[in-house]
Amino acid sequence: MGIEERLIRYCRIDTQSDPYSKTSPSTAKQFALADLLKEELTELGLEDVVRDEYCYVYGHLPSNLDKPCRTVGFIAHMDTAPDYSGTDVKPRIIRNYDGKDIRLNDETIMSVEDFPQLPGFAGKDLMVTDGTTLLGADDKAGITAIMEALVYWQSHPEVKHGPVAVAFTPDEEVGRGTEHFDLERFGADFAYTMDGDAVNVYSDETFNAASAEAEAFGFSIHPGAAKNKMINALNVIHEFHALLPEEMRPEHTEKRDGFYHMTRLNGNTDHAKAEYIIRDHDGGLFEKKKEWMLYCAEVLNRKYGKKVLSVTIRDSYKNMKEVLKQYPEVSGIAVQCIRELGLDPVNESIRGGTDGAMLSFMGLPCPNLGTGGGNYHGRYEYCVLQELELAVQLIIKIAEKTALEG
Ligand SMILES: [Zn+2]
Repeated sequence: MGIEERLIRYCRIDTQSDPYSKTSPSTAKQFALADLLKEELTELGLEDVVRDEYCYVYGHLPSNLDKPCRTVGFIAHMDTAPDYSGTDVKPRIIRNYDGKDIRLNDETIMSVEDFPQLPGFAGKDLMVTDGTTLLGADDKAGITAIMEALVYWQSHPEVKHGPVAVAFTPDEEVGRGTEHFDLERFGADFAYTMDGDAVNVYSDETFNAASAEAEAFGFSIHPGAAKNKMINALNVIHEFHALLPEEMRPEHTEKRDGFYHMTRLNGNTDHAKAEYIIRDHDGGLFEKKKEWMLYCAEVLNRKYGKKVLSVTIRDSYKNMKEVLKQYPEVSGIAVQCIRELGLDPVNESIRGGTDGAMLSFMGLPCPNLGTGGGNYHGRYEYCVLQELELAVQLIIKIAEKTALEG
């Protein structure tokens, strides 16, 4: 089985996760891929292969060195995003892509105007969707890269590597990918999530993240008799929202800019509630954003002379840089290996979180690497097959370099 057949096979299995589910895994259908991967890892000769009750798959490739060596881990997630259908995925390969607009189906065109990165893939082979589902290269390209590296090691025993730990996780897309991650069973000293896009890009930084709930308490009476009495909770929420800087909304931010993002709004005159997420790479600016929200609530309560608004803030995850800066060699190995593949390493701050961020704070330093996919979470998703091959080589090189350095 070649690399593209493998990716197609994994993409065809529906593994969409569910943000509203309380079970682990969030959807039972993720077991189908987990069981397949368990079988394949066993066939490839890995040791202690396990698919546990929470749908996590672990396996270990023994070292072929005659000296001790640190264990390097590679992790990819099995679920696909709830944002778009993952049912009945029909991947298609465009060989020797001409760099122009791609017709996905009669109604849907993936245009160079919308996706200016496309001409850069001219001459390569692109896997795309039929325009009715996502592809699932996020993160089945990551799984494929890891599996193909294992296949390579099986047929090239002369290529040196220390112990390699592999894990495939459920529910990353709904923020629960590490909820039941068994660090002890995984047994790596450091690891990489294979969950990015371009292979020359590595990421050792995520957002700091929190969610906030602003709740407004109105005073509702007949509008005809409202003078100097009514407090409309909807207006209170509106005032609150207007106090948050407009330039700090997602649609006006990029790179290392943080933001406030209202994700839900509900209410009536008597009572209203707005939900927000708060994001910033910079720990200081992140704290300031949270403080500003609390301060705005105080201002409104003072203005009305009574409690009309309360803000509750909950931290979600932290920037993994805080941990990874203590282990510069972990990103260092990846940077060296990217360079040895003939690519220009680029460090990009992730404008989101990763399982690696959680794992880093749990004690496993874990930056993120690319797999050759892009346009994730929708019908314009693609995977550049030559880039995916590079991701396989990157994994092999990282293990080789770790073996050299012990
Ligand atoms: Zn992903």
